[in-house]
Amino acid sequence: MDILVVGGGGREHAIIWALAKSPQAGRIYCAPGNAGIGTIAECVPIAVSEFDRLTDFALENNIDFVVIGPDDPLVDGIVDAFEAKDIPVFGPRKNAAEIEGSKTFMKDLLHKYDIPTAAYEKFDNYEDAKAYLLNQEVPIVIKADGLAAGKGVTVAFSMEQAESALHDIMVNKVFGDAGSHVVIEEFLAGQEMSILAFVDGETVRPMVAAQDHKQVFDNDQGPNTGGMGTYSPLPHIDSAIIEEAIEKIIKPTAKAMVAEGRHFTGILFAGLMISPDGTPKTIEFNARFGDPETQVVLPRLKSDLLAIMMAAVNGTLADIEIEWSDEAAVCVVLASGGYPASYPKGIVIDGLDEVKDALVFHAGTAKNENGEWITNGGRILGVVGLGADIAEARAKAYSEAAHIDFEGKHLRSDIAAKALV
Ligand code: AMP
Repeated sequence: MDILVVGGGGREHAIIWALAKSPQAGRIYCAPGNAGIGTIAECVPIAVSEFDRLTDFALENNIDFVVIGPDDPLVDGIVDAFEAKDIPVFGPRKNAAEIEGSKTFMKDLLHKYDIPTAAYEKFDNYEDAKAYLLNQEVPIVIKADGLAAGKGVTVAFSMEQAESALHDIMVNKVFGDAGSHVVIEEFLAGQEMSILAFVDGETVRPMVAAQDHKQVFDNDQGPNTGGMGTYSPLPHIDSAIIEEAIEKIIKPTAKAMVAEGRHFTGILFAGLMISPDGTPKTIEFNARFGDPETQVVLPRLKSDLLAIMMAAVNGTLADIEIEWSDEAAVCVVLASGGYPASYPKGIVIDGLDEVKDALVFHAGTAKNENGEWITNGGRILGVVGLGADIAEARAKAYSEAAHIDFEGKHLRSDIAAKALV
């Protein structure tokens, strides 16, 4: 099977690493990929938004199976574009990807089907939204409706901060059309957890749970990022809570999508908050693999990823065996100095060859004219340690990450620390 993976970050590197282990995998291409991905797949310089060029490439190269990584093309209908050319593709169609593409759609769906989530109101008019907001208590959460590169959510701890977020979204239009509607939501306290699942219609095959670290600095300080590190499993979270999230949130949501005529095939990713009394509630749904959750979840998958994805597309997901390892995985992200604000690019990365006992997934790397690895983004690398437990995996991730150096290198030193307590 010749495969095309669409995307070019650490998530796609991990997906390709897992797909390449399949005995059925033939040539693997990645559009656009990155220099690290280029060591295990053939990178094709086509952007994820160029649907015509991507489908043409797949036809010209007799691609047998396509896997979509990122959210934007899914929400814009890339799966529909491949299906229109009869090319087998793993991912939700546009009408199903709306669960990630529109927070008002997602909230209304969960409300209609009585699936646990934070209380909310939605608005399409700034004056009404502001009047409502001024009657609420802080903390409160303001969310732009559409995709905003992970920046559309403000958890406001003062009314000034909440008002300014609302003004930025609806009046200053800092996220463009993504801010034409807004959700104002109850603040949920507790621990966050991510559960991803392979889904085809009402068939839900959950993956092992993971936890991300969104803020750029230790102890969850500083601005939100795409994710500074992840770990799996979550030994400090009761398995009954994980089970409850699957039974009361993920499975009913997949079923609700079918009832709405929006059959979902692909990865359904629930971002959940576990309240101090142990009840999980939905914060968000994503319609694809998480980045960097994928980097700790897929190394724990013992079964054939390609076979699972093909089963989802062929409608046989319920029958396939999916096995997970008991090993723990910890991913530490190495980022450019300055990220998530502005940062330099093109800085030489040393020491990659010295990493012997960890997986390294490239997020933002390139090679310069001398063949040296250089930085080419905000998040540069994810170093994944594996071990018998979180402590061992974590020690490996950090000791191996210490071999890698580039000017301005930034990492959090407390990834997975919560799981050690
Ligand atoms: P989202 O893009 O929806 O995942 O939101 C980004 C981050 O904002 C989440 O990972 C949470 O840390 C936080 N967040 C979102 N909604 C809430 C909420 N209702 N209560 C508390 N924190 C939230």
